Amino acid sequence: MKDKEVGAKIINLQETIPEEQFVFMHDIRDGKSTWSRKTIDYFELSGANAIDTIEEFTRLVHPEDVERWKREVDEAFSLRSKDLFSTFNIKNKQGNYVRCTMKGKVIIAENGEPAFYTGSLTVHGNELAKDIVTDLPKLQMYLNDVHSVKCSRRECLTMAIEVRKFHNINNLCGHNFGNKVLYELAQYMVEQMGNYGRVYRMDGTIFTFLFNDSDVEHAESVFKKIREECAKFELDGRMLNLQIAGGALYTKNPASGSNVILSSLLAILEKAKDADSYELQLSNDEMQASDNANIKMLNEIKTSIQNGCEGFYICYQPFVSTMTGKIIGAEALVRWKNDAYGEVAPGRFIPQLELHPSFYELGLWILRTAVRDAKKLLDKIPEFFINVNMSYSQLERGCFKHEVVRILEEEDFPKSHLQLELTERCRNLDMRYLKEQLEFFRSHDIRIALDDFGTGNSTINLLCDLPINCVKIDQTFILHILDQSNNQIVVNSTVQCAKQLGMDVCLEGVENGEIRDFIGRYSVNYHQGYFYSRPVRFESFMDFLSDTWRTDRINLIKEDSRDMFSANSIVSMIPGGFFIYTADDKERIISVNEILLEIFECDTLEEFYDLTGGSFKGIVHPEEYACIEKSINQQIANNNNNRDFVKYNIITKKGNVKKVRDYGHLVRNDNDVDVYYVFLVEDR
Ligand code: C2E
Ligand code: CA
Ligand code: CA
Repeated sequence: MKDKEVGAKIINLQETIPEEQFVFMHDIRDGKSTWSRKTIDYFELSGANAIDTIEEFTRLVHPEDVERWKREVDEAFSLRSKDLFSTFNIKNKQGNYVRCTMKGKVIIAENGEPAFYTGSLTVHGNELAKDIVTDLPKLQMYLNDVHSVKCSRRECLTMAIEVRKFHNINNLCGHNFGNKVLYELAQYMVEQMGNYGRVYRMDGTIFTFLFNDSDVEHAESVFKKIREECAKFELDGRMLNLQIAGGALYTKNPASGSNVILSSLLAILEKAKDADSYELQLSNDEMQASDNANIKMLNEIKTSIQNGCEGFYICYQPFVSTMTGKIIGAEALVRWKNDAYGEVAPGRFIPQLELHPSFYELGLWILRTAVRDAKKLLDKIPEFFINVNMSYSQLERGCFKHEVVRILEEEDFPKSHLQLELTERCRNLDMRYLKEQLEFFRSHDIRIALDDFGTGNSTINLLCDLPINCVKIDQTFILHILDQSNNQIVVNSTVQCAKQLGMDVCLEGVENGEIRDFIGRYSVNYHQGYFYSRPVRFESFMDFLSDTWRTDRINLIKEDSRDMFSANSIVSMIPGGFFIYTADDKERIISVNEILLEIFECDTLEEFYDLTGGSFKGIVHPEEYACIEKSINQQIANNNNNRDFVKYNIITKKGNVKKVRDYGHLVRNDNDVDVYYVFLVEDR
């Protein structure tokens, strides 16, 4: 077949693919693109089939996306990048921006030269449609409108309101009633705004307002009216004392884009909530400048996402089976690292970023990376499963579920070994919609876990209504289980209930041996917590499982009474060469296990003490000690309990030099000197 015929065939495929998909062919040799008829109609392109893609599309791509889009397409078409994968907003013929993803691949001609770039454009679900619960426009529309306001007026007044503790209403009166309240409330907000601007629904119970003018007093009066209405809100004969928090931002700064404005606005709202403030928190450009650091960081993070999720990495925290005491799965927890900011924990960016469209890409990257890593573990532990957190903003997109399946297929990962965690805020989605999404996953054998059960919007009803495989009881219950009998009651009844419904149960927040011993009374499937392991990089996680970690149970042969965490139980859970030493200048070794003796090729404890002098200093190769000591002192000075492993050499009794990895965990003890827990593995 001639190249051109191949092209025509591909374009004809258009008739067989779904509504929201468009195909194109780009002839690399003459730089012309051919689009299907459907595409030309949808975007109202200039009639002819062959068009110059860059020119035609540039005028339609959203101004905030256009530079990046051009770069990505240019790189692909000039064959500098292998695959085209670009997500951006584009205007359709109704003049509305729709979000879409363009993908493509090179086709090689008969003569072996690259001939075509063939690709598809997928218009994503209904981000621009109205929210089904409140009938309000949603996030993407807000961003578009803020952008237009800034282009036309160069200043902008916007407000965010969050209805607080809304889960109480869902808990007491059910989700349907909760949805009705949100609908009524939204209508009241729209009424108050009148012709002064527009109201939008964001994540959960957050609403944003965009004013047509910049009269701050007016925003305050709208806020006040809504606050008063909420306090005496009545529906179906029920009095609801709804409390709200609000923040407003007035900006004259034309440099900041709509995403920056939204991040700033949400940061002000967070402040209002933290301060438990009854009043509207106001901020303007000058005030913003003083606490812009966080927003700047968020913007850096967004840029990292655009650069192929550069700087992100995933740590894995194991699930330990209560049946076998062995690692059976892990949760993927994302982190971001950058020269200027160091390592940044997700708590500092996920809540704000989740709302932002770029989070979608990051979410897919996390999923792909996690299953790719997990696949490598399946050889070692055939039943291994990987948990990946799922956010409201991902589930909200109808296409998310298909992308999950696609990724699993592309990565050739067995679907039943993925467990998606439904994080707290997902539970604010419309129940019917949520159930449909989860049922889709279940129909593909993908498991669902309910994360942080017991916090926010969690009721026993949820367990009955949703297709759930596993309940993760929130760590706050477990962290304070020893002295709070209420927590014991909640955990006990939730475990009973979940078990009767045939679900697995995981207890999170197993922070120390005392907690571990106590929760042994609950018949659950898995434990997760610092006691077993902190979240660690994949490399370290592999070490836990690799041959160098001895997996047989082994007892401590020397234990010290200062050992507050019952070292014996740790040793039986995470095996390896293990010792504890005081973190004072004497560095005295106070507990040792048998495997450590084996690593040092000693037959008895006495031989080991003779060899090392009973101190940490005697463990490390003399030439390396100064360097290791420096890095450890730095860790203590920085107050970090954990560090990445350090590598050094040791000299055994038989005079062999062995390379080892040292995973150290510093434990601060009020009554006594600090102690270091160390696992040592041979670095083969
Ligand atoms: P989460 O899903 O509830 O994850 C568990 C968090 O508890 C992790 O914090 C973990 O380090 C911490 N943790 C585990 N064991 C213990 C313990 O024994 N004691 C204490 N005090 N804490 C423990 P991390 O990694 O900072 O993550 C915080 C939250 O960020 C996560 O909470 C999750 O909501 C969110 N997150 C993290 N990664 C992702 C992601 O890839 N996607 C999404 N959507 N959210 C994520
Ligand atoms: Ca989680
Ligand atoms: Ca959790």
